[in-house]
Amino acid sequence: MVEKRKPIPVRDAIEAIMTRVKPLRAETVSLEESYGRILAEPIIATEDVPAFTRSPYDGFAIRAEDSEGASGEYRKQFTVIDHIGAGEVCRKPLAKGEAVRIMTGAPLPDDANAVVMLEQTVESGNTFTVRKAFHANENVSMRGEEAKKGEVLLDAGHFIHPGVIALLATFGYDRVKVSAKPLVGILATGSELVDVSQPLEPGKIRNSNGPMIAAQLKRIGVESRSYGMKEDDLEACLQIVKTALEEADCLITTGGVSVGDFDYLPEIYKRLGAEVLFNKVAMRPGSVTTVTHADGKLLFGLSGNPSACFSGFELFARPALLKMMGSRKPFLPYAKAVLAEDFTKANPFTRFVRAVYQETPEGAKVAPAGFNKSSAVSSIAKGNAMIVLPGGTRGFQAGDEVDVLLLGLDEGAENWMI
Ligand code: AMP
Ligand code: MG
Repeated sequence: MVEKRKPIPVRDAIEAIMTRVKPLRAETVSLEESYGRILAEPIIATEDVPAFTRSPYDGFAIRAEDSEGASGEYRKQFTVIDHIGAGEVCRKPLAKGEAVRIMTGAPLPDDANAVVMLEQTVESGNTFTVRKAFHANENVSMRGEEAKKGEVLLDAGHFIHPGVIALLATFGYDRVKVSAKPLVGILATGSELVDVSQPLEPGKIRNSNGPMIAAQLKRIGVESRSYGMKEDDLEACLQIVKTALEEADCLITTGGVSVGDFDYLPEIYKRLGAEVLFNKVAMRPGSVTTVTHADGKLLFGLSGNPSACFSGFELFARPALLKMMGSRKPFLPYAKAVLAEDFTKANPFTRFVRAVYQETPEGAKVAPAGFNKSSAVSSIAKGNAMIVLPGGTRGFQAGDEVDVLLLGLDEGAENWMI
C-alpha cells in the first residue's frame, strides 16, 4: 500500500528546518579571501573618514571671507602661493587674498575653508579671479563627514560583496573575521543517470541536478563535495549516505525520495534513525521534498525533477546554509510584480513558477520562463525569479499583481516572504 503523506505548508517546512540550524564557528581570513563570505564581526570605523578635511575637486583653496562681495561685475583676485596634489600637505599660512592650488583628495591648508573649482576661475599667471562669493566649507569634504571613529558601519551577518570589501579596506581590515563555510555533500540517485560526459543510451538521462546544485551552492559561497551518482540500490545508497554524513556538514540528495518502487531514500532515513522534519510539502513542483535531521546534520532529499530540485534548493537548503554561516538575511529577497501573461493552471498547492522578472519604467513585470513542468530544465536556465502563486487559487490573468522571489542577488531578506 502506498504510504499516505501529510503535506505541510511551505512556511512550516522552512521553519522546521531553520529551528534546527546551528551556526558554525568563525574564522579569520585575509581581505582577499573574504569575498563571498559572511561577516562574523561588525565593521567598526577605526578612524574618521575622511581622516582629514580635504578638497573634493581640482581647484584653489581659499579663505571664504576673501571672496565676499565678488560678482560678475566685481571679480575678486587671488594670488597662488603653493600647489599641492593628493598625498601632499601645504604648511604655508594663507594671508588675505592668497590661495593654494589644490587637487582632488589633498588636505585643505589649515587657514583655508573653501575650494574654488578650476571651472569657476579665470586664471592669469599666478593669479585668478572669481565672480561669486564662497561660503565657509563650500566645496569641502569635512573630516568624519562619512564616518566617525568608533561608529558601527555594518553589523555581523552581512554578505561580503565588493562594496563591503572596499569598506573593510578603507578601515585597514587586512584580516577579516568571517563565519566558517559548511561543506555540503551532493549525491544524485537514479539508475537512469549517466555522467555529463557520457553519451545517452536508451532510457538514460544525464545528471543535470548534481552540477546544478554545486553551482547553486557556489552562488552562496558554499563548497560542495560530490558523491557522484548512485543507481537505485538500497545498500549502495545507504553506504554512500553514511560516508557523506561523516565527512560533510550537510547532505543534499536528488531523486528517490518519493513513493515509487525504487525510491530508497525514505528507507535510508529510517535506517539512519533520522528525524523526518517533513516528507511532503504543499507546493508544486517538489511536493515530495523531504528534509531529515541525523547526528545534528540536515539531509535535504530533493526531488529528481530538475525544476523541483532547483526550487527545493532555493526554498529550503539555501536559507539553512546561509543561517549556518551567520547570515542575517538568509531568505530569498522578494518583490511584487505584474503578471505579463495569463497563467491559467489552478493551484491546489502553492505554486513556484520559474520566471523572468524585469523592472520597467511602468513598474515590475514578471512572466513564466517558458515550458514549466517540474521536469523542465530550460525554464530554470532562462529564469531569474520564481512567481509564487498561493494554493487554493484558480489561475491568474495578465495584469494581476503577484509575489515574486528573486534569484541570484547578493542581498537577501530577513524573513520568509509574507
Ligand atoms: P525521482 O525524484 O527519482 O522520482 O525522479 C524524478 C524525475 O527526475 C525522473 O524523471 C528522473 O529521471 C529525473 N531525475 C532524477 N535525477 C535526476 C538528475 N540528477 N538530473 C536530472 N534529472 C533527474
Ligand atoms: Mg528516481
